[in-house]
Amino acid sequence: MDMKTYELAIVGAGVAGYAAALAAHNLNMDCLWLGERGFGDKVRLAERVRNFPAFSGSGAELAARLEAQRAEEGIDLTEARIDGVYGVKGGYLLTQGETTFSAKAVILAVGVETKGSLRGEREFLGRGLSYCAVCDGALYKGKRIAVVLSSPKYEEEARYLASFASKVVCFCLYPAPTLAGGNISVRTDVPVAVEGRERVERVVTKAGPLETDGVFLLKNSAPPEALVGGLAVEDGHVAVDRAMRTNLKGLFAAGDVTGRPYQYIKAAGEGLVAAYSAKEYLQESGK
Ligand SMILES: Cc1cc2nc3c(=O)[nH]c(=O)nc-3n(C[C@H](O)[C@H](O)[C@H](O)COP(=O)(O)OP(=O)(O)OC[C@H]3O[C@@H](n4cnc5c(N)ncnc54)[C@H](O)[C@@H]3O)c2cc1C
Repeated sequence: MDMKTYELAIVGAGVAGYAAALAAHNLNMDCLWLGERGFGDKVRLAERVRNFPAFSGSGAELAARLEAQRAEEGIDLTEARIDGVYGVKGGYLLTQGETTFSAKAVILAVGVETKGSLRGEREFLGRGLSYCAVCDGALYKGKRIAVVLSSPKYEEEARYLASFASKVVCFCLYPAPTLAGGNISVRTDVPVAVEGRERVERVVTKAGPLETDGVFLLKNSAPPEALVGGLAVEDGHVAVDRAMRTNLKGLFAAGDVTGRPYQYIKAAGEGLVAAYSAKEYLQESGK
């Protein structure tokens, strides 16, 4: 069966991704919205939100209001964690493991995650450093892996890695991990760097180096250039113009991923602009 090609795919279901999905819905676009339910940790965990117009309350209350609006508008979310976005003739393919989605235009609204970031991270990407257990786990059959987890929700992925590796050392950046056992050990010191020559050879913490064959960083958002090859990045953020266009035709970005200030109102505004720009792009390019 032929794969459906959507007009627009939105990657990320925080405030930026939701605002883009809402705008695309209002623009009557055939849109695929990809991400996790609940609007993300950065909404759910906010203690008190005081800088969003006409709203004052906890992040959990904000998430509940967003969810009520999403349901009322009938905007569907497809639960997926995208591990690659590839430019092809006529648009983009987005992958999640073996699953592939297709769209003529894409909005990246994947946020930023500094927790669990290591010195040398970008340098060793694809040379022993990965953000995706499902994509790269099988490459480490019988080898030693270090895994840095920013949240307990990634424990299942660490166990998956342990089904291939001989030894998995987990650095859990949250309290009370439940992972230890079998070939998995848990450490409480925090990794600060990844080092090696051609490939990753060790992870460094304040306690000293740990020799390893590979490192997996399991966190909410990977650097955007790890997701999309050839994407222009400045100071760690996706470079965009005022229409939220990136250097890649038909690919837009919105929210924290494009830079500071990291605030909901900026994320929402950029999500809206990106959706309008995607619509304009499709019309102008006759897609
Ligand atoms: C504790 C805390 C409190 C805060 N309080 C405030 C406040 O009071 N006011 C304010 O204005 N701002 C606040 N912020 C900042 C605000 O949360 C961010 O600016 C805002 O959430 C950015 O929205 P975003 O959609 O760009 O990114 P995010 O909220 O980070 O959402 C990105 C989403 O994309 C998902 N994602 C990432 N990669 C992929 C992928 N490959 N495939 C699918 N999904 C993916 C992530 O899991 C996440 O759900 C707070 C942040 C924190 C951490």
